[in-house]
Amino acid sequence: MSKPEAVLGGPASIVETACPLDCPDACSLAVTVRHGKVVAIDGGHTNPVTDGYICAKVRKFGERIYGPDRLMHPAVRVGRKGEGRFRRVSWEEALELVAERFRRAKTEAGGASILPYSYGGSNGLLTQDNIDAQLWRRFGTSRLARTVCAAPTGAANMALYGKMPSVTYQDYPHAKLIILWGVNPSASGIHLIPFVREAQKLGAKLVVVDPRSTQHARAADIHLQVKPGTDVVVALAIHRHLFATGRADAKFLAEHTRNADKLRERAEPWTFARAADIAGVDPATLEQVAEWYASTSPALIRCGWGLERNRNGGNAAMSVLALPAVGGKFGVRGGGYSMSNSASWDITRPWIAADEPETRVVNMNHLGRALTEYNDPPVKVLFVYNCNPAATVPDQRRIVRGLEREDLFTVVFEQVMTDTALYADVILPNTTFLEGYDVAKAYGPIHLELGRPVIDAVGEARSNADVFGELASRLGVIGDDEPKGELDLMLHVLDNLPGTIGGDLRAGSPATSPFGPAPVQFVDVFPKTPDRRVDLFPAELEASTPMGLYRFQPDPATDRYPLALISPSSERTISSTLGELPRPDVKLTMHPEDAKARGLSDGDLVRVFNDLGEVHCPLAVLPTVRPGMVSLPKGIWRRSTRNGMTGTALVPDTLTDIGEGACFNDARVQVGSLATA
Ligand code: SF4
Repeated sequence: MSKPEAVLGGPASIVETACPLDCPDACSLAVTVRHGKVVAIDGGHTNPVTDGYICAKVRKFGERIYGPDRLMHPAVRVGRKGEGRFRRVSWEEALELVAERFRRAKTEAGGASILPYSYGGSNGLLTQDNIDAQLWRRFGTSRLARTVCAAPTGAANMALYGKMPSVTYQDYPHAKLIILWGVNPSASGIHLIPFVREAQKLGAKLVVVDPRSTQHARAADIHLQVKPGTDVVVALAIHRHLFATGRADAKFLAEHTRNADKLRERAEPWTFARAADIAGVDPATLEQVAEWYASTSPALIRCGWGLERNRNGGNAAMSVLALPAVGGKFGVRGGGYSMSNSASWDITRPWIAADEPETRVVNMNHLGRALTEYNDPPVKVLFVYNCNPAATVPDQRRIVRGLEREDLFTVVFEQVMTDTALYADVILPNTTFLEGYDVAKAYGPIHLELGRPVIDAVGEARSNADVFGELASRLGVIGDDEPKGELDLMLHVLDNLPGTIGGDLRAGSPATSPFGPAPVQFVDVFPKTPDRRVDLFPAELEASTPMGLYRFQPDPATDRYPLALISPSSERTISSTLGELPRPDVKLTMHPEDAKARGLSDGDLVRVFNDLGEVHCPLAVLPTVRPGMVSLPKGIWRRSTRNGMTGTALVPDTLTDIGEGACFNDARVQVGSLATA
């Protein structure tokens, strides 16, 4: 596993592990450690797709481990909430205080007055949904609907295909047409890029559907620069074309799908002219894309997460994901669709040995409301881990108001002093993925690999399993024979993984997928729906979707707030992870026409505002965004702007049509000079 490293001039070793962060690729890593410290992070070769190459973000991960923001010991608040003044305490004092507040809240207002709040700070199997979930269930806390990301696309993929495994990176070079829809691999999932380039070299056409002119859009044969929130009508126009020109695959539809006629009915009104008018694209170009899709095989759609972040997000995902079924694009290598492969391993987490209680469900996008308005019961204790909601969740001002409540007891279990940790009553320091075990699960490639500790825990940091096991013991909701610490949990998880996965990982190999690393859809894998058919018009979803399936809700822009603000992933953070690192000023990007109309110039300090809040930052005037929209990066922290507010301060907490996801790209704003404000 390790070998001496002479070049660095000291006793050093290279330790192999894997990256479990919230990214599709799960790179194998080779970490150079000297005198017990991480000195370099590079790519390992166990994952054949990532094969020695990693992103610049994780190369810098040492700056998080040893940076000034790292939380080194438990602490309790001594200053005002948000002020960031804390007193160091022992783990014993911190955990007993937390346990005592849990007991008190439950006695006074019931378990539902405790809200555990977490998301994908890491996607590792040991990081969440194990001892933590068992603790929350057995103690009867509120339940959290984890819907801030991937809920609409996940719901669509589940309804249509039961989350069938999708085309993996290795098969992209077989495609003759690739559509990158709402995804920017330069920012997330970088290992897809060489496979797309290889396909292009072999003659594949590339279409990019994205409101921004990204590097891939500029390299594409066609870039459909759609208005945010209009992907659904673009996809429906392609469906209409397939049906109207007899290129819907009647044989495939009859043998493998249900309810194609109902989808056809909903697509019928979407002529190229009408869809193009709403999406703000040229109708002839849209028709060209539809014609390429109808006439090319293998044709592959990479469905990303950008298209789901608006009021029409679920229907957009439904419409896009239904295209290969209607067009008959399955059954050939390089054909079909490609999106999250997270469900490919059928891991059902049997190690959560407790049933879900019937307690209240809180949608995580409504955190601000939950903290300021919910009364049945009010939230008395908030336990935040693996996420930083004060920076990342819609309606930031309302969330901050909630976090400022003096009668709210907030625990933040974190690696660094986040925007949320500043409001904590108790801080518990957490290990990073280089300080413990985990199982890294890719959701782009089909790859599962064991992550090992590379260094000892820094300061007094402890792992999730250790802390939740200890807390569960104090609260009397864990048996003596149940796993309580990280090593225990890791062995228990390995013993309970399906098939040969646990054995493979114990042997130090990546797990072997039952259908190989690159399954062909409708040859090697089929829908995991009850009858193995694609349901193109699921009745339950039609009933629960406010406007019905394959419907479009108009743009929420107003005369006062005409600009669509989007917040795409950037090359600097993984969601908000690493947002604490110093960086150049975060800028608002605006098209030159919009800047001119407002008398603004590149570099001006501007105020981006709506009725929910405002953000102050410099302006970048660039034609990479389309007129009528502006862009701020996803995942920035409050320190990154001039007034300490991020783009989420401008995002309403409305929910998507399907999946109750966040509508980040439904923020409508105005922009003016800060000098004249
Ligand atoms: S964040 Fe993604 S690209 Fe970067 S090292 Fe981790 S898995 Fe690889």
